[in-house]
Amino acid sequence: MDFLFSPEEEAFREEVADFLEKEGPKEWHKKKVSFFDMSGQENWIAVHRDMSQKLGARGWLSLHWPKEYGGQELSPFYRLILREELAKHHCPGYHSLSVDFVAPAILLKGSEELKKRHLPGIASGKVMWCEGLSEPGHGSDMAALETYAKEDGDSYVVNGQKIWTTYAHFADWMFLLARTDRQAQPNYRGLTFFLVDMKTPGITVNPIINMAGHHDFNEVFFDDVRIPKENIVDSVNRGWYVTMAVLDSERTSDLGYAIASTLLDDIVAGAREMGMLDSGDKVRMAELIAECEVARLTHYHVTYMQAQGKDTSYEAAMCKLLGFESIQHVAEFGLKVFRNYGLLSDTSPMAPLYGRISSCYLRSFGHSMEAGTSEIDRDIIAQRGLGLPRLR
Ligand SMILES: Cc1cc2nc3c(=O)[nH]c(=O)nc-3n(C[C@H](O)[C@H](O)[C@H](O)COP(=O)(O)OP(=O)(O)OC[C@H]3O[C@@H](n4cnc5c(N)ncnc54)[C@H](O)[C@@H]3O)c2cc1C
Repeated sequence: MDFLFSPEEEAFREEVADFLEKEGPKEWHKKKVSFFDMSGQENWIAVHRDMSQKLGARGWLSLHWPKEYGGQELSPFYRLILREELAKHHCPGYHSLSVDFVAPAILLKGSEELKKRHLPGIASGKVMWCEGLSEPGHGSDMAALETYAKEDGDSYVVNGQKIWTTYAHFADWMFLLARTDRQAQPNYRGLTFFLVDMKTPGITVNPIINMAGHHDFNEVFFDDVRIPKENIVDSVNRGWYVTMAVLDSERTSDLGYAIASTLLDDIVAGAREMGMLDSGDKVRMAELIAECEVARLTHYHVTYMQAQGKDTSYEAAMCKLLGFESIQHVAEFGLKVFRNYGLLSDTSPMAPLYGRISSCYLRSFGHSMEAGTSEIDRDIIAQRGLGLPRLR
């Protein structure tokens, strides 16, 4: 068993680190703030888009794609290295919803025409996507979703509502799961996966402000939205299977352990500077370092499986569960270490780490829900990993 990266992979890491030092947003780097902390700030979408295009121009958003679609056919470890460095450098620009959610679906199940039309925009970082799966009352129970797409000539006409749609307010396209057969049994066999231009008439996006005070997600309404049939990925009523592939990829996309480890390093450095670490903190710190390490090695294991072309269903759920819970635990620790100061927001000059502790803590609860809740992850692990019956 060899846990070392190859010399080529190490060289790639250096190249990425060097590039991010020079090209990453200086203001974010100086304040050590990341994507999640900055989403409340006025200019963050422009910074994110700009950085995304810089990454795209270097071919780093399509590292593992087949060469015929503009990729380099590199192992998924290159993507992991890129994302570790992005986390370390507090750098935005990697729009997972495009690169790791919809692109694999199009590559796996899309028609040749859809691949040619959409993959270049994703690889260049110019076209950004959002995900239309959850509905009020149909989050975990996604198979029962009600947004309805009715066949009409060479199109489908969609009516209904999605919710918690991250970045719908600036996305160019959405991948949408809608019901095309109300009689289908079981109900998941009546769903279809559409690609929707967000400029199509009939789409309304309303903001939802999260408890950190940031505008990340939205509710999206569809009123007679017309989608051409050629925008269906795979075929009618096969959307569930496309979505399952998206979700496995989604669960391993964001490196929770890398975000958590970077935050932990920053908390420790900040607390040392302010003389705020006590012996109890040291014990907890040791536990958290161990927790991040377990999450990191689990992610490496799953990346190795992906490199081998193996199915990663319950292992992907483990990745997400361990990685995202480690962010929550580290953010909680930050709040404890900095005591009342940790509650201050970035508007206060007394706030440690530019108010990042409170925003990370408040945002961290969302991590246990997005891409499927932690309970659902545990259920997947129990069912598919241990062969136990469904929780409920
Ligand atoms: C930050 C954030 C970003 C998001 N972005 C998007 C997005 O871009 N697009 C999108 O479509 N959705 C998005 N979501 C929605 C997310 O996928 C749902 O919140 C999630 O699937 C849970 O659904 P729900 O909120 O309806 O909760 P429910 O499904 O109603 O669950 C409520 C509680 O019951 C538990 N529960 C439900 N069913 C079971 C079960 N079978 N076994 C055990 N426990 C169960 C859950 O774990 C949870 O604790 C986002 C959510 C968050 C927090």
